[in-house]
Amino acid sequence: MNGRVHVAGRGRIGGARSMGGARVRPTATWIGAAIAVAVGACAPTGGVPESPRPSAAPEGALPPIPARRGPLALDVVYPQEGAAIAARDSTFVYGSTGTGDARLWIDGTPVPVQPNGAFLAFLPVPPAGVYRFLAVAGEDSVRLERKVRVPPPQPLLSADSATILDRTIAPRGAWAALPGERIAVSFRGTPGGIATLVLPDGSRIPLVERSVIAVADEAQRAFARDTAALASERVRGVSEYMGEFPAMPLATPSPAIERPTLAEVPTPTRGGFAGAILELVVRNDTARAPLPLNLALLDPDRLPVAETFDPEPLGRTGDGITVGRPGPGYTYAYFWPDGTRLTLTGQRNGEYRVRLAPDLTAWVDARDVRLLPRGTPVPTGRVGTVRFAPGPKAVDVRIELADRFPFRVDEGDRSITVTIYGGTADTDWLQYRSVDPFIRVAEWEQPADGIYRLTLDLEDEPWGYQTAWAANGDLVLRIRRPPAIDPERPLRGLLVAVDPGHPPAGANGPTGLTEAQANLAIALRLRPLLEEAGARVLMTRTDMTPVPLQARTHAATAADADILVSVHNNAFPDGVNPFANNGTSVYYFHRHSVDLARSLQRALLEELGLRDLGIGRGNLALVRPTWMPAALTETMYMMIPRQEAALRDPAVQERIARAHVRGLEEFLRGRAFRRERSALP
Ligand SMILES: [Zn+2]
Repeated sequence: MNGRVHVAGRGRIGGARSMGGARVRPTATWIGAAIAVAVGACAPTGGVPESPRPSAAPEGALPPIPARRGPLALDVVYPQEGAAIAARDSTFVYGSTGTGDARLWIDGTPVPVQPNGAFLAFLPVPPAGVYRFLAVAGEDSVRLERKVRVPPPQPLLSADSATILDRTIAPRGAWAALPGERIAVSFRGTPGGIATLVLPDGSRIPLVERSVIAVADEAQRAFARDTAALASERVRGVSEYMGEFPAMPLATPSPAIERPTLAEVPTPTRGGFAGAILELVVRNDTARAPLPLNLALLDPDRLPVAETFDPEPLGRTGDGITVGRPGPGYTYAYFWPDGTRLTLTGQRNGEYRVRLAPDLTAWVDARDVRLLPRGTPVPTGRVGTVRFAPGPKAVDVRIELADRFPFRVDEGDRSITVTIYGGTADTDWLQYRSVDPFIRVAEWEQPADGIYRLTLDLEDEPWGYQTAWAANGDLVLRIRRPPAIDPERPLRGLLVAVDPGHPPAGANGPTGLTEAQANLAIALRLRPLLEEAGARVLMTRTDMTPVPLQARTHAATAADADILVSVHNNAFPDGVNPFANNGTSVYYFHRHSVDLARSLQRALLEELGLRDLGIGRGNLALVRPTWMPAALTETMYMMIPRQEAALRDPAVQERIARAHVRGLEEFLRGRAFRRERSALP
C-alpha cells in the first residue's frame, strides 16, 4: 500500500517496537496510557525493577553473554533524549555501561549489569520526565541525565466552574455526510454539569454525562501476554458529555478548520454564524465552545464517484493498491487495484466513506483516489459471464463486469470466494474452458442487493492469487497452482524471496546492535543454505542501504517468488514488560500462509528454546502480498541483553538461519504430503 501509510510512523507506537510496518494506533489522549498495568506474576511493585529470573525463558538455548572489560562508558540507547514516552506508569530503559564490571543505578534503583555491560530495566516513568543514571566501575563513576516527554497529567478541573476541554471536542475538521445521518458529538469537562449542543437554527440537543473510563491501550492488548490483568478504570475529576444530532450544514468561523472536499459548506453570513456551539453549565457558571466542524451534506441522488489511484511510484514506495478499511483509520480489509470505481457517501477529514452494499461501507484515504467529474453515474449494472483460462502455473478467472466495482477476495482451505459490491448477477455462463480439474466447481450467488459472490472450489489449497483490471474492464483473479514439490528435497527448484527486515527503521539493542544488522547477518547465512537445498534465492537487500517496504514486496511478486520470508527481530512498545513478554513469534496475513508461519515458529522454538509467543496474523506489509505464502519471523527481542548478545554471535546467526530452512522444508513437505493423500482414490 502507499508508503506513507506505514513506512515510518506506523511501526512505532512511541516505543522501541518497529516490526515490518506494524500498525498500532497511538492512543491519542492522556487517558489512553493512564492505566496501571500489571503483567503476570512478576509485575513491578514499589518501583523495584525486575531482573530476569535465572530459569526464565530469555536464555533458552542461547550461549552465555560474553564478558567485556572496557572503560566505563555509559550509553543510554533507550529512551533517547527528548523522546516522547507513550506510557505513564512504567516502561523499559536500556543501554550499556561499556564494561561488565560496572554497577548501575537508575533513579536510585539498582539495575543489574550484564557481563558485556548491557543493561535492561523496567521502571516507573519519572513523573517530571528526567531519568537519572549513575554508573560506577572501580574508581570511576559517571552520572547522566536523560530528559523525555511524558504524557501530560490529567488537568485538574475546579468543581465550581464550568470547563470544556477544547481538545476533547469531537467531531472536528472537515466532514461530509448524508441527510438524516446521525452525527455523534462529545467533549470532556467539569463533572456534574448540564451540557447542550446548540445548532444554528437555535434548536438545543441535550448531551448525556457519563464517567470517563481509561482503557489499556492497543499496544498492551496486542503485545502483553497476560491481558486478563488489564483493567479499565474510572478517571476521576472529569466527565464525558455525549449525544447526537441529525446531519446538517455547519460552518465554523475559524479559518484554521479545513473544509470538506466532497461538497460545499455554507458560507457564514456577515454577523451570522452557521456553526454549532457546545454549552456546559455548572452551578452559576456557563462555558461555551464552538463545535470545530465544517460539515457538508451530500445529495443522495448525485453521490460523488471516485477512482482508486495509488500516487506513490509503483515498486518503490507504492504498489498500485488502495486499501479499504472497515472504519475511518481502522485496519485493512479491502485491497483495490488502481482504477476501481467507488461511490462515496461521506468524508471525515482525510478519509472518504465508500458505499459497498446498502448496509456495508468502507473508508479510503482521500489521497488514494481521484474524484471523477460531478454527475458521473455511480457504478451499477450486471455481472456477466465468468470464464477460466487455465495456464501451467495459474488459472485466470475473468469476470465480466458493467463497471470496475469494488470487491473482496476470501480464501477457504480449498476455495476462493470473490465478493463484488454493486453489481447484479447475470451470469448465464460459467465456462471452464478445459478439463483441468484445479477449479473443481464454480458457483455464483446474489445473497443481497448489491452483493454478488463467486465461489470457486479448488482441487488443492491455493498457493496464492492476484487481482487486476483487464483493459476491457473484466476483473481478473489469477489463482496460483501449488508448485511441484519433491518431498526428498522440498526446496529444489523453488524461488525463495529472503527479506532482511529494515532499514529504514527497526529496533536496536542495549549495546547498539541494530535490528537491520542482525536481520541481514541471518539472511546472508540463510541464502547459501537455501541454495545448498536446491532453491534459488532472491534477496531484497544485501547491504545496509534502506529499501522501502513496497520495493521489497514488489520484487518478490514480480519475480514470481514461490515463498517470501521476512527476517526480523522484535521490540516492544512503551509500557510492555520486556522480561515477562519476550519470546519467539511468526506473523502471517493470508490464510494460505498460516502453515508456513507455524512451521517456521516450530523450527525456531526447537532450535533456540525461547518462549513460545505463538504465531499471529499481523497487518504487516511484508506478509500482505497475495501471490505466495509469506511469513515474517521475529526470532528474538533486540532489547533483551542475552538475546542481543546471541544475535551478534555468528554461530547463533547460523542456527537461526538453519531453523528457517527446516521450517520452510517442513511446510513444503506438509503441502506435498497433503496433496498426495488427497489424490488417493
Ligand atoms: Zn523489524
